[in-house]
Amino acid sequence: MTRNNPLNSKPGHNILLINPWMYDFTAYDLWLRPMGLLILSGFLKSHGYNIVLLDCLDRSHPILKRYEGNLPKRKENGSGKYLAEDIDIPKSIESIPRKYKRYGIPFNLTEAYLQELHKPDLIMVSSLMSYWWESTRDMIKLVKEIYPEVPVFAGGIYPSIYPEHCIRECNPDYIQVSNNLEELLIKVDKVLGISRDYRDIDFSIEKNYYPDYSFVGDRSSLPMMTSVGCPFDCPFCVTPLRWGKFRPLDLDRIVNDVTLYNREYGVRNFAFYDDALFFRKESHFYPFAEKLLKKKVQASFFTPNSLFARAVDGKMAETMKEMNFVNPRLSYESVDLELQKKMKKVDNSDLSNAIKNLEDAGFRRSDMEIYLLFGLPNQDKECVIEGMKYINDLGAKIHLTYYSPLKGTVFGDSIIEKYFPEDHDPALTNKFGFLTWHYKIGVVEFEEIREIKRHLNSQLD
Ligand code: SF4
Repeated sequence: MTRNNPLNSKPGHNILLINPWMYDFTAYDLWLRPMGLLILSGFLKSHGYNIVLLDCLDRSHPILKRYEGNLPKRKENGSGKYLAEDIDIPKSIESIPRKYKRYGIPFNLTEAYLQELHKPDLIMVSSLMSYWWESTRDMIKLVKEIYPEVPVFAGGIYPSIYPEHCIRECNPDYIQVSNNLEELLIKVDKVLGISRDYRDIDFSIEKNYYPDYSFVGDRSSLPMMTSVGCPFDCPFCVTPLRWGKFRPLDLDRIVNDVTLYNREYGVRNFAFYDDALFFRKESHFYPFAEKLLKKKVQASFFTPNSLFARAVDGKMAETMKEMNFVNPRLSYESVDLELQKKMKKVDNSDLSNAIKNLEDAGFRRSDMEIYLLFGLPNQDKECVIEGMKYINDLGAKIHLTYYSPLKGTVFGDSIIEKYFPEDHDPALTNKFGFLTWHYKIGVVEFEEIREIKRHLNSQLD
């Protein structure tokens, strides 16, 4: 059997980190990068562990060379479609007349890759969306079959929100429910029999939250983060719960990383994963932009997480243009004035001012994308259509996202308490599934809304 783990000759303990597949009705055309695992990799390496990372959503993973069909085309910036395999739909949402798929590296190739690895000493399986939990379960089952004696951790959003469910259904040996790095290192050391003095270690986010880019195979784009957390408390969002308030990271270190990967490795696209990139812009974003502009980095910057429209004044718009932001995405979420008041982050005038400022700075309106949520509580189909028309009247593109009720959030908890069975299957919170079973929005109606979006956006092309 071939052993393709380059770390197998290194002394010390090997930890295998796994980002499993996406299980859903449709795939995100994403930028999706396992930022949490990249950060974890950097952290564990700095404490002496050897790391191997398997990202099942890596479109350029070497194992895909063995794929016998045609691989989906990738866009220049690294986004694009995934390979997909039909899988059984979860029982709780089986009434939805759509195909359910495993997106990412095909199962047989994932299995082959894992079988050919040098045996790890510990395996950590992450999870992103709790409604994809069956992919975490299937991955844990697979690694336990291949490496029955290796301890397996489950971490990420799903075990954090549904710890009992995860222990019962996925059978990991350990779960990690918080982002506390000290707690994690102590646990990992204990499992692997390592002892060290923890008193002198700086476990702060500011010191440790930097991705280990060595595992990003596809360098057409890299994710980056200049801060963690968010000052807002939107009733549908899990970020404040998981990450707390805004904390800036070390800007010099990030500028150096971006410059290095741009110059040495030719990376031309960077995607900001911050949740609040423009918060405290005078002391955070502007100094960052100034440092980066001085380095004369030749790259494009994308904002998959969307930006605070209220912060985009004339100076910000010009800075974004100078830095070469591409397709700026702005948060809007809903045309509903009550919700806008509740969120306190954006209203109609913030959005129209931001779009005007960006246009004045040289962006085309039709290159801007505005996030609109579909499926929020008390938001009917007409409200979504009104929101789409409002964005279209401003000349910008609609970026429709679908609401999922997340446990622990204000909206999520009230919906779960009212409508969900006790000890519910997390797959019930699948965005498309939720819209269908909760709002009784059928496939036809769903497609109608998507068609309106497509039609309005195509008017701007
Ligand atoms: S501003 Fe964005 S990240 Fe912050 S709480 Fe609202 S939705 Fe979440």
